Amino acid sequence: MKKTTSKSSSPLKIYCDIFGHNYEMTKKVTSHVKEYTCKCCKRQLTTNGNGKLTELTPKYQEINAILADIYSRRMSRLKNKSLSSSIY
Ligand SMILES: [Zn+2]
Repeated sequence: MKKTTSKSSSPLKIYCDIFGHNYEMTKKVTSHVKEYTCKCCKRQLTTNGNGKLTELTPKYQEINAILADIYSRRMSRLKNKSLSSSIY
């Protein structure tokens, strides 16, 4: 008799189904948009344009990368502005 043990569903995923996901913030894209990863099953979520959580698809990863770029540029500009005004 040959028996193969298939890893179709991990016990961690079942845990998430019962107790809910254990999300942890993994990345701050902007002050409003963040990325979360479940510590158990590694499922990833992000904040979408409506401020709601949605699955982090490659499309959203792309959007977030652009948002992060704009955000960091804006922040550095604000920093420069306050710096020059303090000198003045
Ligand atoms: Zn999970």
